[in-house]
Amino acid sequence: MAYEKTDHMKYEAVIGLEVHAQMLTETKIFCRCSTQFGSEPNTQTCPVCIGMPGVLPVLNKKTLEFTIKTGLAMNCAISSYSRFARKNYFYPDLPKGYQISQYELPVCEQGYIEIVVSGDTKKIGITRIHMEEDAGKNIHEAAPSKAGGGNYSFVDLNRAGVPLMEIVSEPDMRSPEEAVEYMKKLRAILIYLGVCDGNMEQGSLRCDANVSVRPAGQNELGVKTEIKNLNSFKFVEKALEYEIERQKGILEKSGKIIQETRLWNTERGITESMRTKEEAHDYRYFPEPDLVPIMAEQQWVDEIKKSLPELPDTKRERFVSEYRLPEYDAALMTSEKSLADWFEEAVRLGGQPKAVSNWIMGDLMRFLKEENKSIEECPLEPGQLVDMIRLIDEGTISGKIAKTVFEVMYKTGKDSGSIVKEKGLLQISDTGEIEKIVDDVIAKNSREVARYKAGEEKLFGFFVGHVMKLTKGKANPQMVNELLKKKLS
Ligand SMILES: [Zn+2]
Repeated sequence: MAYEKTDHMKYEAVIGLEVHAQMLTETKIFCRCSTQFGSEPNTQTCPVCIGMPGVLPVLNKKTLEFTIKTGLAMNCAISSYSRFARKNYFYPDLPKGYQISQYELPVCEQGYIEIVVSGDTKKIGITRIHMEEDAGKNIHEAAPSKAGGGNYSFVDLNRAGVPLMEIVSEPDMRSPEEAVEYMKKLRAILIYLGVCDGNMEQGSLRCDANVSVRPAGQNELGVKTEIKNLNSFKFVEKALEYEIERQKGILEKSGKIIQETRLWNTERGITESMRTKEEAHDYRYFPEPDLVPIMAEQQWVDEIKKSLPELPDTKRERFVSEYRLPEYDAALMTSEKSLADWFEEAVRLGGQPKAVSNWIMGDLMRFLKEENKSIEECPLEPGQLVDMIRLIDEGTISGKIAKTVFEVMYKTGKDSGSIVKEKGLLQISDTGEIEKIVDDVIAKNSREVARYKAGEEKLFGFFVGHVMKLTKGKANPQMVNELLKKKLS
C-alpha cells in the first residue's frame, strides 16, 4: 500500500510581476530637464523636479505617446480618459513628499502578451500600464571625512522626475521560468518599440515580483510577499526559486506566511524581510490637482497604432515563413531587435538563412557571451560572415577549417579570404595530393588495415582521422572518404 507523505504534497506558485520601465525620452516627465544617465549629481534638476512649492508640472506628450504605444503593442484597451494621482509617502529622495503616479484611472488596461515555455504558448495578462515619475537616489557613504569620520548620506535628484511606465501583470505565472520568459518578452517588446533601452544593469528596467504558494488544485490565493528591485533575469529566477521554497517550507510546517516586502540578497542568495507590506490606503492616493486629466483622442491613438513596428511575435512568424527557419531558430533570432536586424542584413547580402542562423547561434553567440558583449558590440559585420559561408559553399575551405577562420575573423576583424591566404588554410581538393596521403596512411598502419578488412568497420574513422591530421584538417572530407573506401575494399 502506498502512502502519500505530506512532504510530497504538491504546491503551486502564483507569480505576478510589476515592471518599471524608464522611458527613452530626452526630457523628464513634467519638466524640461535632461534624462541622461551618469551626469554629475543634481546637475539635471529644476524647481519642478526638486519639488519647490508653487511650481506647476506639465506633462511631456512623448511619455503619453510611449505609454499608449506600449499598451497597443501589449493588446491593452487605451483609456479615453485617465488622470494622475498623488501617492503620498516620505523619503529623503522624494522632496515633494508625494510621487505623481496614476491610480484608479491608468492609461492602459486589460492586455496580454504571449510567452513560450517548453514549446507551449501561454498568454500572460497585463492588468494595467500607467505613467509615473521616478524618485531621486540616496547614496550612503560610510567613509570617514575631515568633518569627523561620521557617516554621510547624499541625495542625487537627477533621476527625480524621470518618466517611468509601470507595467503590472496578472498573477498568471506559475514558475520562475515563466516569470523570466515574461520579463524577456516584455523587454524585447519595449526595445522593439524604442520606448525603453531595456538596460537592467543601469536600472532602466526593474522588476518587483509578487509571489505566493498554494496547494495544487486550490483556487484561493495564498498570502503573497513582494520581492523588490530585481534588476537581472538571473536575480528574478533565483529570488523566485528561493522564495517559493521558503514559503513551501513554512506551509509544510503548518506555519503562517506574513504579507511583507522582501529584498533579494545577491551575496547570500536569499530573500530577506524588509518591511511589512503597505496597502494602497497607506499612500492616501488622491487625484493630482496640478495636472489636467488626460484625454487621448481616438484619431491620435489610431495614428500611433499605425506607426507600430513589426513586433517580436510577428517577426518570428515571418522568419519561419519567409526564411524557412525552424521555430527555435526564429524565436532566438527575433528575441532581440538588433539580433534580428543583424540576421536579416546577412540574409540580404546573400547568406543562406539556415547557415547564417547556425553560425549566429553557435560560434558568434559563444564568443559574444565569453566577452559579455551584446550583438550591437559585435566586432563582425554581417557581410563578413556571408563571405565566409561562401568560401565553404564553394569548397574553398572545409566546415571544420571554417571554425578556425571564424575565430580569427572574430578576434582580428580581418576578412575570411585574407585569413585563408595568410594561414594557408585552403581546402585540399586535389585528388592526387589526397591520394598520396591516403596511401601513406594505409602503408603505415598495416595492422589496422588487416583488422578493418577482417570486419572491424568502425576503424574507418581511424583512417579518416589520420588523413585529416596529416592535412591539418584541410583535406576535402568527401574525397577522403571516397578514396579510403576505394583503397580499403
Ligand atoms: Zn526639472
